[in-house]
Amino acid sequence: MAELGFIGLGIMGKPMAGHLVAAGHTVHVYDVRPEPVKELSTRGARPCRSCKEVGQKSNIIFIMVPDTPDVEAVLFGPDGLAEGLRSGSIVVDMSSISPIATKEFAKKLTAMGVKMLDAPVSGGQVGAENATLSIMVGGPVEVFNEVKPYFERMGKNIVHIGGHGDGQTCKVANQIVVALTIEAVAEALLFASKAGADPVKVRAALLGGFAQSRILELHGERMIHRKFDPGFRIRLHQKDLNLALQAARSLGLSLPNTATAQELFNAVAAQGSSDLDHSAMVLALEKLANHTIKG
Ligand code: NAD
Repeated sequence: MAELGFIGLGIMGKPMAGHLVAAGHTVHVYDVRPEPVKELSTRGARPCRSCKEVGQKSNIIFIMVPDTPDVEAVLFGPDGLAEGLRSGSIVVDMSSISPIATKEFAKKLTAMGVKMLDAPVSGGQVGAENATLSIMVGGPVEVFNEVKPYFERMGKNIVHIGGHGDGQTCKVANQIVVALTIEAVAEALLFASKAGADPVKVRAALLGGFAQSRILELHGERMIHRKFDPGFRIRLHQKDLNLALQAARSLGLSLPNTATAQELFNAVAAQGSSDLDHSAMVLALEKLANHTIKG
């Protein structure tokens, strides 16, 4: 049986690593914060003091950290994975980061005899906790087949998209849909509330029709009940839309509504709220409307 490693035990990584531990695998874990390492250790995970130590002890290592520079630090920083990895090991980056940087990381690891997959996820905290994530994978198909049984412990809809970076490109596309749908749900509930209709009932009615979506269900409820604890932090969605807008610029592509959604996130962040859940985009629209949704 493979010795597994898991680096980055936050909102997503902790429950994902927890499923691998619960399935009986040996999982070597590390996070810069000691608390989640301690917590998972009480459930059977093996605590490590650095990424390097995880690399030395494991042959399939999962990474789930916030952003591109964090993945770079985990891989190539001081006491990083690259210092401990053995030839033939597999690195699986499940963070949502730049597709371009991902290709560079894969090149460097390949030169060391290490295989890599990019495997970002969708489904949020609930999907991570219930092991129902959608996992979009880039990298060689034979490596994908080797790691698939472990993906199946964390997710349900597991799709091999293509070569290195293609999983990340798919995730950027996902984040465009999610941001624009949050905006649509926020505008619709704000409109209904300002017009004097009960947003609770409006949401219930829309959930049975063509406007139905998981975002109307989960984030619509958050907007009505003012539950903006994360979840998925605004700062992380800003990072993803930056990736979309930068890539669009280099592709000569116009994404006007992605740009608007990013500006609305920027407006909420300017109020010091970038650690709220991304459903809090509604706060920017409420300011423009001088109206708060009343549930
Ligand atoms: P988080 O901030 O809750 O967790 C990140 C963890 O990484 C933290 O525990 C942090 O201490 C750790 N970390 C950071 N740098 C590290 C380093 N150098 N070495 C070791 N550990 C390090 O973030 P999250 O919400 O779990 O998101 C993680 C990734 O998953 C992000 O790329 C995000 O975009 C993506 N994602 C999040 C969600 C969600 O709903 N939260 C959904 C899908 C995808």
